[in-house]
Amino acid sequence: MPSIYLHVPFCTRKCPYCDFFSVEGHSACLHAYPRKLIEHLRLCRHQATGPVETIFFGGGTPSLLPPGEIGGILDEIAVHFSLSPQPEITLEANPGTLTSDSLRGYRQAGVNRLSLGIQSFNQQMLKTLGRIHTPEQARNAFCWARDAGFSNLSLDLMFGLPGQTDEDLEAELERIIELCPEHVSLYGLTIEQGTPFFDQHRKSRIIPADDETTARMYLDIDARLNAAGYGHYEISNFARPGFESRHNLRYWQRRSNLGFGAGAHSFCDLGWGRRMEVPADIERYFALLDKGEDPAVLLETFDRAGAMSETLYLGLRTAEGVDDRAFFNRFGQTVREAFPLAIERCGNHLRLIDGKWRMDLAGWLIFDHQILEFL
Ligand code: SF4
Repeated sequence: MPSIYLHVPFCTRKCPYCDFFSVEGHSACLHAYPRKLIEHLRLCRHQATGPVETIFFGGGTPSLLPPGEIGGILDEIAVHFSLSPQPEITLEANPGTLTSDSLRGYRQAGVNRLSLGIQSFNQQMLKTLGRIHTPEQARNAFCWARDAGFSNLSLDLMFGLPGQTDEDLEAELERIIELCPEHVSLYGLTIEQGTPFFDQHRKSRIIPADDETTARMYLDIDARLNAAGYGHYEISNFARPGFESRHNLRYWQRRSNLGFGAGAHSFCDLGWGRRMEVPADIERYFALLDKGEDPAVLLETFDRAGAMSETLYLGLRTAEGVDDRAFFNRFGQTVREAFPLAIERCGNHLRLIDGKWRMDLAGWLIFDHQILEFL
C-alpha cells in the first residue's frame, strides 16, 4: 500500500531560516500548478501497488491553493488510484493564508488532518523568523479549523530561537496545551547553509540558543507534553494516542510513497528500496509534463547494507524502534549481528526492550551523532 505526497513549492514570502524547496510569489506558475499536478498523477497512475493509505499536501505552502483546487486534485486521485477505506489526508497550512471559509472548503474537499505552521505564539519571535502571520492569526486559524470540523489538528512550532528564554518556551507550551491539538511537532532551529540566517549567523547578527539551552528546552518539552497526555513518538513529534501521523510513520518505516510535484521525493520498497526525486525546478517540471514524460529521476538504489543502515536510521527516530525479529526476517541477521560495534558505542542510549531496539531520550538528543555509528 503506498502513500501519496504532493509538493506545492510556493510561499507568500520566503522565511529566512528555511531551506525547503519553495519560491516566493510566482502567481502565474501557482495558477497553472494544480493542472500540472493532475497531469503528473495521470501519467504515473499505474505506479501504485495497492490502495493509497495516506495523502499529504506539503510544501511550501499548500494552503495557497484554494479549496476547489485541492478538491479537484483529491477527486483526480480517487479516479486513478484505489483508496484505503479511511485514508489520512493532510494539508500543511500557513495561518497567514487561512480564513474560516477556506478552512470549511478544505474540510468539505476531503482534507481530514490539518498541519498548522505556527512556529511561535510570540510576536517578536515570529518577526525574527520572518513569518507572515501574527499570534492572533494562528489562534484564529486553529479555532476556525475546529469550527470547520477538523478533529485531527497538528501544530508545528520551533524552539531554541534567538533570544528565547525558558519562560518564553514555557509560555509557548502553555498556549499549545490550552488549544489541545491532537498532534504537535517541535523542531529546534537549525542554521542551514544557503539561507539568509546562515549569512546573518556568520556575521553574528543571529545567535540561536546554544547547545546546552537547546538540550534543556528539549527535555522540558518532553516532560511538559508527556504530562499533558502527549506521547513522544518520534524525535520531534508528539501525539495524543491514536493521532500519530500515519503518513510520516510510513516514511520512518520505509514504506512506499509516491511523490508528485517539483521537488517531491518518492520511495519504492521493492527489493532493498529505491528513492526517486522530481528535480526542484518548476519550469523544467512543467516542460517535462508537456512532453508527457515522467519528471522523476532515480536518486538512489539501495543494496542490502544500505537498506539495513537506513532501517536503523529511520526506525530509531521513533519510540516504536526497530523490531529485531522483523529485521532478522528481512535481512537474515539480527541488529546485534549486523551492527555489533555501533550498538556497543551507543552504550545505554540504545536498548533491546521487548524485542525492539529503542533509543532513549538522551540518545535522541544527540541522535545525529549516535546514528553515524550505523551508517
Ligand atoms: S512558509 Fe514554510 S516552506 Fe515557506 S518559506 Fe516559510 S518555512 Fe519555508
